Amino acid sequence: MLEDRIRSWDGEEVVVRFDHLTGTWMFVCIHSRKLGPACGGTRMKTYPDLEGALADAMKLSAAMTLKMAVADMPFGGGKAVLAIPLAFAEDQRTELIKRYADMVESLGGNFQTGPDINTSIADMDLIGERTRHVVCRSRERGGSGDPGPYTARGVFHGICASVNHAFGSPKLQGRSVLVQGVGDVGSRLAEQLVAAGARVLISDVATERVQRLVDSIGATPIPPEEAIGSDCDVYSPCALGGTLNAGTIPQLRCRIVAGSANNQLAEPDDADRLRAANILYAPDFVINAGGVLYAWGLEALGWSRETIDARHRGIGDTLANIYSAAERGGVSTEAAAIRIAAARLSAGDRAATSIQRGPL
Ligand code: NAD
Repeated sequence: MLEDRIRSWDGEEVVVRFDHLTGTWMFVCIHSRKLGPACGGTRMKTYPDLEGALADAMKLSAAMTLKMAVADMPFGGGKAVLAIPLAFAEDQRTELIKRYADMVESLGGNFQTGPDINTSIADMDLIGERTRHVVCRSRERGGSGDPGPYTARGVFHGICASVNHAFGSPKLQGRSVLVQGVGDVGSRLAEQLVAAGARVLISDVATERVQRLVDSIGATPIPPEEAIGSDCDVYSPCALGGTLNAGTIPQLRCRIVAGSANNQLAEPDDADRLRAANILYAPDFVINAGGVLYAWGLEALGWSRETIDARHRGIGDTLANIYSAAERGGVSTEAAAIRIAAARLSAGDRAATSIQRGPL
């Protein structure tokens, strides 16, 4: 039940609005503001039921808290879901987005948003007409534009660090990488991997996207239903969450899992299942932080391009530290990454407490 889910959530706040004109439920989940305002994208999607929509928003928002903390950003975690009905008509989109923008504005900066699945840079422009608490507007409107290529950049560095840890060299020549999902992030990643000498396998339900990359970079196509069981050094999930679960993990034929998709593990135990299978897992909230580092770094923190490049390379260094810590501690890489986030969050707690107390 919705009520039980909200009562038992470990986040700070759930803001709910029902948009009568379109039948859309809007959920803004603010998981944590310990390190700063809650930041996270806005996902627009039709869900089988309302509880699934809320659960998605909660899980994604908690992942944003971890992402910001491990990336050492002065922001918290949040996420918005616009659960549109099956009968949603695209010509209702503009007005819906405007009403949603008013909801974001009403939160007074406690929640700052950006694009996510099925919301675009044009949508961010529209939101930006009614609130300043949005990133990734178009460059013409003064925003940072599409974060996808920067997410891909971070994943690329993460793959190099993972290959280095597993095989003793970061070089990608001769290594095979299967990119599952060649959309905004996956297509850019595939291009970088080919340029670095990797043998790239690609898989997507959108056959025209696959064909374009086969033609342009010479990638090898893999049918969607064969992606999980394909032999490769690195499996890079860049489509949907939940592809790592009790059913799929035993079928994996890779040494490394390192991709951009959010919430790749269907449940927490999957991290231990990967470890038991001797598969090195790059925690999703660590490796996919490149877009966040770019958008909030540039727009909210005024970072230079050099700083952003350095922070993208830093994703590889962070993963290397996580892998070593996991081995030392005899825990999964997910658990080691969560420990880093927890330490930053409890330091944030102490800072917040001392601010509340004022000078002694
Ligand atoms: P996208 O929508 O542009 O691309 C996703 C691709 O996955 C599409 O080409 C789609 O056809 C394909 N796909 C869907 N279902 C599939 C399936 N079952 N098998 C194979 N392919 C399938 O999305 P994106 O922006 O490239 O993001 C990819 C993933 O990375 C998403 O999970 C997203 O949440 C996550 N992510 C993206 C960013 C970003 O900056 N764009 C940042 C962090 C995380």
